[in-house]
Amino acid sequence: MSFKLLIDGKQVAGANTVPVINPADESIVANSPVADQNQLNEAVAAAKRAQPEWAQTPIDERAACLKRLGEAVQAHEADIATLITQEVGRPLPLSHFEAQLVQKSCDFYSQQRLDVELIHEDEAIRVEAHRLPLGVIAAILPWNAPLYLAINKLAPAVLAGNSIILKPAPTSPLSTLKLGELINEIFPPGVINIICDNNDLGGALVAHPDVSKIAFTGSTVTGQKILTAAAQQLKKVTLELSGNDAAIVLPDVDVAAIAPELIFGAFFNSAQICAVIKRLYVHESIYDQLCDTLAAGLSQAVMGNGMDPDVQFGPIQNAAQFEKVKAYLEEAKSTGTIICGGDVPEGKGYFITPTLVRDVSDGDRIVDEEPFGPILPIIKYSDVEDVIRRANASSFGLGASVWSADGNKAQQIAGRLEAGTVWVNQHCAIDPSIPFPTSKHSGQGVEAGREGLLEYTNLKIVNIKK
Ligand code: NAD
Repeated sequence: MSFKLLIDGKQVAGANTVPVINPADESIVANSPVADQNQLNEAVAAAKRAQPEWAQTPIDERAACLKRLGEAVQAHEADIATLITQEVGRPLPLSHFEAQLVQKSCDFYSQQRLDVELIHEDEAIRVEAHRLPLGVIAAILPWNAPLYLAINKLAPAVLAGNSIILKPAPTSPLSTLKLGELINEIFPPGVINIICDNNDLGGALVAHPDVSKIAFTGSTVTGQKILTAAAQQLKKVTLELSGNDAAIVLPDVDVAAIAPELIFGAFFNSAQICAVIKRLYVHESIYDQLCDTLAAGLSQAVMGNGMDPDVQFGPIQNAAQFEKVKAYLEEAKSTGTIICGGDVPEGKGYFITPTLVRDVSDGDRIVDEEPFGPILPIIKYSDVEDVIRRANASSFGLGASVWSADGNKAQQIAGRLEAGTVWVNQHCAIDPSIPFPTSKHSGQGVEAGREGLLEYTNLKIVNIKK
């Protein structure tokens, strides 16, 4: 398989290459082209040249390009899903799900419009709100859901009349480069560019004077660096950062019924998702029962290469993350009681069996920090007021959930949790049409939904005296 960068409507080799490793068996999936500073400059220059004409192109035509991109992804769904599984490690059906979310995102944004809005009119004045593009967008991406996180930046950005440069993570660039092949048959040269790196060009993209906005998904640590650098030129940013989602389980739940949903909500993509359950707070009256039920369910899990149809859980995506999660696992073993998993199988691949750890509490690193891997701490609570306080005590504020048979009670608690999204009796239910906001150290701004589109515009007021 051969992959190329996309710069100014041309698919070009990189200045260098890096191998992309299949985390299930440590084989090389393919070599990824990586750009140098000159190619980065060419990509930004191409995006800057293309943007004014693209912004003048009627929005219906821009939307039609997005719709065609969604159709092209649908036509190539099998190839794209296979690539996602090979580079991310996820079971193939979940990679199809990601490819389908990409189509949904294209569809959703192709239906949005940015008409002039009349916000006030009387005998004396007429006030209109206009939405203008920002210019050149740099989208910097992580490795856990490469295409979904790319399209939720690309689609609203180009619909609003911006041009964009995508920079995928070095360990998962291939599905994005495949998307580039489809893009190149649909969009004018320079409107969408894709450059890859070896974890060394993100800073240069952020600092480039012709980039107007940084749309970033990744760790809070990198987000802080980006915000600091962007401040030098007062660039706009959207930051979708780390999370440590709490789920609060009330004593009235049907334990057997919610257990599989909690497992899904905590271990989707082997827990390498920003908004999965990372702290499970369970009332003391059902603590033992829920721990046992979860352990019984999760111990049946089939882990392995995501191309195998029986596999439900894949590996950790890359070697560095594997080492990080193993360190959390060792610490969890010493602070709590492992009731399921806890193994690092011998042999090739970055595998850790899905792990449940009980008898841990706030203050333990496995509870307070985000391992971004398949270890779920289960924490006992006795008082609802106290558990709300503990859930909110985190510096993160991405997602949270409340689980109860009493919808009203659950919604009251949901209203008091500090998070961008609070789910009731579910967790990690995402959709490109639903805004995905952030709070606290989990980021700034909103991705997805109508609000996600507005993040790629400048609001301009035209105030007319009659
Ligand atoms: P990371 O921050 O290490 O890297 C993300 C991207 O930033 C990569 O493309 C990397 O090359 C680039 N980068 C690295 N240093 C940079 C710099 N100084 N300037 C600009 N760019 C730079 O994150 P990761 O390990 O790839 O991803 C995992 C993290 O992402 C987790 O913390 C997870 O919670 C978070 N995440 C958040 C969301 C969300 O929507 N909030 C979604 C997915 C993942």
